Amino acid sequence: MSKFIKINEITISSDHYIGGQRVAAEHYLEVFSPIDGQVLGQVANGSPSIINQAIEAAERAFPAWAALSAAERKVYLDKFADEIGKRADEFALTESTDAGVLFSRMQHGVVGRAQLNIRHFAEHALRLQNHSIDTKQAEHLVRHDPAGVVVIITPWNAPLMLSTWKLGPALASGNTCILKAPEWAPCTSSLLADAAQAAGIPPGVFNVVQGTGLESGAGLVADPRIARVSFTGSVPTAKLIAQSAAQNLVPCSLELGGKSPFIVLASADIDNAAATAALMYRNAGQVCLAGTRLLVHESIKDEFVEAMRAYVEALNVGDPRDPATEVGPIIHQRQVERVAGFIERAKAAGAVVLWGAEKHPFGELYFKPTLLTNVKQDDEIVQNEVFGPVLTLQTFSHDDELIAMANGTDYGLGGVCYGEQQHATEIAKRVRTGFIWVNSFGIRDLEAPFGGIKRSGIGREGGNWSFEFFCDIKDVVVPKKPFRASFSQR
Ligand code: NAD
Repeated sequence: MSKFIKINEITISSDHYIGGQRVAAEHYLEVFSPIDGQVLGQVANGSPSIINQAIEAAERAFPAWAALSAAERKVYLDKFADEIGKRADEFALTESTDAGVLFSRMQHGVVGRAQLNIRHFAEHALRLQNHSIDTKQAEHLVRHDPAGVVVIITPWNAPLMLSTWKLGPALASGNTCILKAPEWAPCTSSLLADAAQAAGIPPGVFNVVQGTGLESGAGLVADPRIARVSFTGSVPTAKLIAQSAAQNLVPCSLELGGKSPFIVLASADIDNAAATAALMYRNAGQVCLAGTRLLVHESIKDEFVEAMRAYVEALNVGDPRDPATEVGPIIHQRQVERVAGFIERAKAAGAVVLWGAEKHPFGELYFKPTLLTNVKQDDEIVQNEVFGPVLTLQTFSHDDELIAMANGTDYGLGGVCYGEQQHATEIAKRVRTGFIWVNSFGIRDLEAPFGGIKRSGIGREGGNWSFEFFCDIKDVVVPKKPFRASFSQR
């Protein structure tokens, strides 16, 4: 029998969405809200039979969807984006309730971005369809053929944004998709299925499989019928996925964790840098691209810390649905314990607490924004991703020392560099990451490449990079003069 989750007046199907229909599960998992730890309801878990049904449905739908022109697919995808827009408040309240993301941020940023993710890549696909290279001998018609059935796996910290960012290019280029929703925040993926159905996306083109990583994700990735795996999540899971996909030589795109440097040069606008540094506590620090290692020139350390303290003390920690809240809850009790464990071990290794380092009185899953100093480069707290509201502060005296610290972890996702623009830009070029913001933070464009190096990932998303991953690139060579075979031909 079908099950539902109710969030205020919003009814969310707990079931899978396969071949254009809701499919009930044999087993269901409990879903909690991080706002108060209360059970929201149940969500379907996966099984070998569900995985098989989803892949069969996506395979059946593939030939017809792939045969459409990019313009024809765009008509469907624009409707899909419209349907997401019609449900904007539902998406915002739902993700705020099941993932703890700020409602105001969902309403004013994320839902619009989700629509743009779909529209933008549908538009971009039109340009790819006529790509050709004209040479003296021949015209090379460079085709971006859809790869087939694509599996998309997302984490719980930004499910709507991350899933649509992958679905946009995957669907626009003619693939059929199976979205594996995150088990701790499964609800907006289910709402996406409603939006796709209302938009008339043909059955099987977009499917949602709910459930755990082990029971749903691993089975999908291991199946030889899959053409691509696009994954965002943690490093340990990525290693399992890469190993499994390697058995079938299936390409994987891996967007992983970070331990990004936030650099403040002696020439920086200290107040501006401090205000941005306080932003790193957004989403309770559960943001892959946050600059969590503050690297501050020793000459301005005290002034910077006091400026930042003022911004941090003014932060409102509380219910993410309240428009005044700036820092919401941590997703799960397990994550709270993980954050507290990191802090305890750091303190035992000599770290000094500048602020925070304890639970926030607002509730069980709320943690105070924390800054630790007196940490060493090889300390666990400097080397490993906490994924909570915990930053570290280290100082440097010259550029080479700074670069060694900035590059001195296994991660290489992003970075921030505040200082006189030219100097900051030069430093930014020397930091080994996939992207870095100079005197700014969070400026993104769907045409620009996004992704990490080292343990932060393999592959890039955005612009052509997304299409190169989701497509089989093929060169159809049409000679300009009549061609006659000859052994002397080179
Ligand atoms: P996770 O790796 O535990 O889970 C991510 C997803 O993978 C979930 O849907 C989960 O069910 C699934 N999964 C787990 N085991 C699997 C398996 N064996 N096979 C297939 N799927 C499996 O990550 P998380 O805790 O949900 O998310 C936090 C992590 O995500 C952090 O490390 C964070 O930095 C990272 N992240 C990265 C980006 C980025 O763009 N680089 C963005 C957001 C989050």
